[in-house]
Amino acid sequence: MAKVKTHYEDCDILVVGGGMAGTGAAFEARHWGRDLKIICVEKANIDRSGAVAQGLYAINCYMGMQWDENQPEDHVRYARNDLMGLVREDLGYDMARHVDSTVHMFDEWGLPMMKNEKTGRYLREGKWQIMIHGESYKPIVAEAAKKSADKIYNRIMVTHLLMDESKENRVGGAVGFNMRTGDYYVFRAKTVIVAAGGASHIFKPRAVGEGMGRTWYAPWSNGSAYALPIAVGAKMTQMENRIVLCRFKDGYGPVGAYFLHLKTYTQNANGENYEKKWYEHTKKLVGEYIDHHPVPTCLRNHAFIQEVAAGGGPIHMVTKEAFQDPHLETVGWENFLGMTVGQAVVWASQNIDPKYTNPELTTSEPYVMGSHATCSGAWVSGPEDLSPPEYFWGYNRMLTVDGLFGAGDTVGGSAHKFSSGSFTEGRLAAKAAVKYIQDQKAEGINVTDKQCHDFKETIYKPLENYTVGRNEITGGTVSPSYISPIQGLQRLQKIMDEYVGGITSNYMTNENMLKRGLELLEWLQEDLENVGAEDYHQLMRAWELKHRALTSQCVTEHTLYRKETRWPGYYYRGDHLKLDDENWHCLTVSRRDPKTGKFTLEKMPVYHIVDEKEKKQAS
Ligand SMILES: Cc1cc2nc3c(=O)[nH]c(=O)nc-3n(C[C@H](O)[C@H](O)[C@H](O)COP(=O)(O)OP(=O)(O)OC[C@H]3O[C@@H](n4cnc5c(N)ncnc54)[C@H](O)[C@@H]3O)c2cc1C
Repeated sequence: MAKVKTHYEDCDILVVGGGMAGTGAAFEARHWGRDLKIICVEKANIDRSGAVAQGLYAINCYMGMQWDENQPEDHVRYARNDLMGLVREDLGYDMARHVDSTVHMFDEWGLPMMKNEKTGRYLREGKWQIMIHGESYKPIVAEAAKKSADKIYNRIMVTHLLMDESKENRVGGAVGFNMRTGDYYVFRAKTVIVAAGGASHIFKPRAVGEGMGRTWYAPWSNGSAYALPIAVGAKMTQMENRIVLCRFKDGYGPVGAYFLHLKTYTQNANGENYEKKWYEHTKKLVGEYIDHHPVPTCLRNHAFIQEVAAGGGPIHMVTKEAFQDPHLETVGWENFLGMTVGQAVVWASQNIDPKYTNPELTTSEPYVMGSHATCSGAWVSGPEDLSPPEYFWGYNRMLTVDGLFGAGDTVGGSAHKFSSGSFTEGRLAAKAAVKYIQDQKAEGINVTDKQCHDFKETIYKPLENYTVGRNEITGGTVSPSYISPIQGLQRLQKIMDEYVGGITSNYMTNENMLKRGLELLEWLQEDLENVGAEDYHQLMRAWELKHRALTSQCVTEHTLYRKETRWPGYYYRGDHLKLDDENWHCLTVSRRDPKTGKFTLEKMPVYHIVDEKEKKQAS
């Protein structure tokens, strides 16, 4: 370890992850904290990092309040409905009331927005989505962050949070390493905003073998957003609410523009509208939720999964009609060129021209995230003007660890934020972090050299494991005393897939399987002490794996705790197949004790703030 160079950086606000939420946080932190030192640390390169790296074709969250298209209350109702009743309405409302101002800034910064030439309004793809030419989306928001922060560190993976040693449960910064030089970085900070994206590749993906690595959610989203806070004892919520996506087969190409703009629709192999067929069946499981409009995402998945299981597959997207219109045909192809070029390549390789062949759809492996039609993530304080006491402890978007904030996929309970809402949430978190510092809440933080040194030993251990362990190899590459990151990853994916409701079991699990899964995950954790890394890139893979494994434990604990099937189509508890509003109309909250590694879980109330407010006004 003596050879590894250590760099120290002291700052006021440390942003971990320079994706949508992280760039929003860096930008807003400068607005409120003119004199503060703001640092952003990014695992890749901020210009093209995060889930938006390739670009997007639509901004999926825009109210349009200036034209009275939607109000924040409408968005809360929409997200609540889609998540089968369970969201943090204070967080959702807070994001929705600010998201338009974010989008207007994107427009000012030069993001090409599609507009109706006559009215000047943004062109809508759906009720919440507006259309953009989004290839330049990420570089544009990155520029705002670069101009705002004192420094952006690229290619540094943050592996651990530092904790203040003078006051319990207060954050003190973060540590990580540069994946190119191998240097060790210590960022001592008064506040930390975790904005490190969601988690893919914790469940075995459909794309294996030659297609390994292909996933819907960004393959580099490795759950740091969850593992970092979980490791220091921050509370998490709704981690069972993993998401399964219905997407074009093999390329995971997006379907939103197809459904909403091209008005394409799905059918089974016999050309039937299969969703209708499963209405009565679904009603028995979830009651009146199936009558809601729009039909919740998970229930649409449910019909798809049941139809395929009943032998009605493959399911097709009917594109042949829409693609006869040359304009729609162009939009259909451009949609992929803007964000998922690979889908166009897959179709070309399989002789699929959607003008003449209806392409197949599939349901993906599950992902963990907090910004889409799902709301897994950290349990955070809401805004003071909206949040009931259980949801409020002083600073907006602060986790249950003092000085530690979150935004975007990191934050649980607030679904349907997407890119614009994640950037907005980054802004909200940063504003609160500045106030936390201005309120003198970050005084006297003490992070000893010993803490920093201990983490250094821990972080580089996989290199040591490899260097020592490779001497024991007698043939091939398999060592008796270390496992490689890819071996560990495949073992993790197999456990999650087979026991926690992945594709192999058709998203089915139960108490016995979950308990067995937890046992296997624990043994995996033990073995991960012996993960070996032959270079700095593999060292990153080792730490990505460790973060994924911790995230997976939390997901499994939550799935075991909620004794109902709240979101059929995302996963099924075979021993509790029905939705149970009487006992489980609540949020689940977990905490892992950093000393013992044991999780405890509790129920938290769901407050339907929006309609309660209106009911009160009416009475
Ligand atoms: C395929 C796909 C299509 C989508 N389509 C749309 C759409 O059409 N419209 C829309 O509005 N939204 C869309 N979204 C959603 C949108 O991209 C996300 O909601 C948003 O990017 C979430 O923001 P975030 O900052 O939480 O995560 P990200 O933007 O993913 O940023 C996380 C950042 O953290 C970095 N990071 C991770 N771990 C570490 C670590 N340990 N140390 C340092 N840095 C780290 C990552 O490199 C990354 O830059 C789509 C997402 C995907 C994957």
